[in-house]
Amino acid sequence: MDLTQYPRRIYTPAPTPVIELKRLSSLLKCGRIYLKRDDLLGLTGGGNKTRKLEFVVADALKQGADTLVTCGGLQSNHCRLTAAAAVKEGMKCRLILVEEPHQTYDREASGNNLLYHLLGVDEITVIKDMADLDSAMARVAEQVRDAGGTPYLIPLGASTPIGCLGYIACAREIAAQSAKMDVHFDYVVCATGSGGTQAGLVMGFTDADYTCRVLGMNVSRSAAEQEVLVRELIDRTISELGLDLTVGDERIACFDKGVGDGYAMPSAEMVRAVKLTAATEGILLDPVYTGKAMVGLFDLMQRDYFQIDDRILFIQTGGTPALYTQPELFV
Ligand SMILES: *Cc1c(COP(=O)(O)O)cnc(C)c1O
Repeated sequence: MDLTQYPRRIYTPAPTPVIELKRLSSLLKCGRIYLKRDDLLGLTGGGNKTRKLEFVVADALKQGADTLVTCGGLQSNHCRLTAAAAVKEGMKCRLILVEEPHQTYDREASGNNLLYHLLGVDEITVIKDMADLDSAMARVAEQVRDAGGTPYLIPLGASTPIGCLGYIACAREIAAQSAKMDVHFDYVVCATGSGGTQAGLVMGFTDADYTCRVLGMNVSRSAAEQEVLVRELIDRTISELGLDLTVGDERIACFDKGVGDGYAMPSAEMVRAVKLTAATEGILLDPVYTGKAMVGLFDLMQRDYFQIDDRILFIQTGGTPALYTQPELFV
């Protein structure tokens, strides 16, 4: 696959570091854990949406847009990074935030919400129901047009075929780092929500002929539902972009042990995983995605899923600003 045929903006100057978590690995004794620091990606605060936005924002610019319109939860990493990309490109940005549970929106909340304000988001619309998302997006796009602007709509998590290119490129980056380090990764573990990260990695490793198993750790759905979502996104990406790629079902594996009570609902296991990773490695995870993904990884370890000498690469996909919104969980 020739990635250079797709317009791309570069928001990170170099590959993100891969480090070995020696202390955590020797504590758990269930494989050698490595971590890819995608929390250090470019744009404000880093995280996986930066890779997707490199391609998505380039597409918006190609189409002549001047305003990015996107959506997410009240503490959305994706909304924060879209706002940051708009700043970088001299574009406007409008956000639609879904207030679930109800009555929880606080204009002065910390974390990503604070960053929306610092990044100068032009307008924030809060809606109560996920079911109204599409109509709210369409309404905001209409308002932008009425004001003489040209909107570009980015769906939840930028998990579109073009957005998937970000993690197809990341799989290549990992394969190159793996060769340079002379370390072969048997497993690559990532949190999976809107699915673009996992779908991109699976397609990217397949395309690069890099043999490893991608394990998606769910943050909101059952394993079966998430596997269907990722399958559909892969199929849509292959057909819309006309990729010459075949991905078998056996490459799509999702696990739901970390989900707990549901999306963004804290769990005791998540708190334990975040604390343990900080206290053994000085690495911050987040409460919504990577903390729960680590719970999923620990669960597989407990069930002897891995061999002792397997090399496992955990992608730290970001999200740390959310840590500062609920200090009471961790103190
Ligand atoms: C969005 C997000 C994910 C999930 O990525 P998807 O591509 O939506 O599956 C994982 N980690 C963090 C920190 C995120 O913000």
